[in-house]
Amino acid sequence: MASHTTNGKLYSFEFFPPKSEESASALRVTVDKLARLRPRFCSVTFGAGGSTRERTFETVVEIQGRTGIECAPHLSCVASTRENIREVLDRYRVQGIRHIVALRGDLPSGMLSAGEFRYASELVAFIRQETGDHFNIEVAAYPECHPQAPNIELDIRNFKRKVEAGANSAITQYFYNPAAYFRFVDDCRKGGIDIPIVPGIMPITNYTQLARFSELCGADIPRWIRKRLEGFGDDRPAIRAFGIEVVTDLCRALLDGGAPGLHFYTLNQSEASLAIWDNLGIAAA
Ligand code: FAD
Repeated sequence: MASHTTNGKLYSFEFFPPKSEESASALRVTVDKLARLRPRFCSVTFGAGGSTRERTFETVVEIQGRTGIECAPHLSCVASTRENIREVLDRYRVQGIRHIVALRGDLPSGMLSAGEFRYASELVAFIRQETGDHFNIEVAAYPECHPQAPNIELDIRNFKRKVEAGANSAITQYFYNPAAYFRFVDDCRKGGIDIPIVPGIMPITNYTQLARFSELCGADIPRWIRKRLEGFGDDRPAIRAFGIEVVTDLCRALLDGGAPGLHFYTLNQSEASLAIWDNLGIAAA
């Protein structure tokens, strides 16, 4: 088996901001374990509409301060004004944050205001206009097509708008079919998109939760995986063991096929990401 060193590959871990002091302590333990792997960066999600603004800010500043690893806040522009975003960018700049994941986000149900930005490309353009080259900007990409896009061709054209506005690299929605990723990357290259497109990796640890997420974000769980997971019923250890095997194989296929790195959606847990990392034989940087 080929060993994938971190040399030249972009590995990153994503967390969400904790809601209580207890979950904040648990997150510190998770971050410390994953920080030992010396990822290229960590990121912290943002509740669209601004619901986690303070918690995202505090978590990002804490992770970067404690680990010395670059930490990137996610920032969604839906329901925001230019003034709101300018303020957030200023606060991050003051804290020495230089990396950001720029998103549109989805309006929480019941929230009506669409704000001053319609699409993530407008947010990327605004960040560049306000802050020049200060931030390394990541954007989202969808190998299985964004659920609201009429087709993949238009979705790729819209992805290109984000690149033209100044995005440096992209992280994909998670998927379990490597062929979807490789075809997507080929089509992006043909369409003139040349930034790194890093696959987003969702470890499988809880089938009910995964099925719910996947329904919402339009990620396909292939039938053969679904059927096996359903067959395990409540047998959590069996689900975890199978999930680690399947996701390790996926990561290996992606890296062997030329993916520029991996971005793990950790859901604030370290075990599955660590097990996959070990299986892949990735050396710490
Ligand atoms: P956009 O790039 O703006 O695209 C949204 C839709 O609009 C697409 O269908 C696109 O084809 C279409 N579109 C874009 N431009 C145009 C145009 N000019 N004309 C017509 N149509 C257009 N959500 C959160 O709330 N918080 C998070 O922290 C978060 N983190 C994420 C991290 C990653 C890596 C990914 C992949 C997703 C994340 N999301 C997050 C989810 C994301 O906010 C949703 O998928 C959202 O629906 C789209 O965001 P976007 O930035 O891709 O939007």
